[in-house]
Amino acid sequence: MTQDHYKILAISADASPDEITKAYRQKLRTWHPDLWPEHRKAYATAHFKKIIQAFEVLSHPEQRAVFDQERAARMPAPVRQEPFICPKCGGVTPADKVRRLEGKQYCDLCFWKLVYERRDQNEADKRR
Ligand SMILES: [Zn+2]
Repeated sequence: MTQDHYKILAISADASPDEITKAYRQKLRTWHPDLWPEHRKAYATAHFKKIIQAFEVLSHPEQRAVFDQERAARMPAPVRQEPFICPKCGGVTPADKVRRLEGKQYCDLCFWKLVYERRDQNEADKRR
């Protein structure tokens, strides 16, 4: 099984050698099995080994380069999202902010305007 050494040490993939050493020492202190109660020792030991393994790879430039290549290959390609253009106001909206109403898509603002318009309309209908 391949572990993400950066994740184990809680550092970014562009961490400097100093940052790696610092994170490693700090993690070693936190995860030293002697510091853990008996029933958590096995878990701590397993994690402790992962930390050592992570440092062994990341502290050697050649091993780190190989690991970086493998890691990049495993990463899913980022999903490219086209910006959305609202049909009502023509505003450009990030794809994750697009809202759907009655089968049509709108920007956040137009969506709420329509929702309130519908509500006011319903109120008016009731009064008639
Ligand atoms: Zn809009």
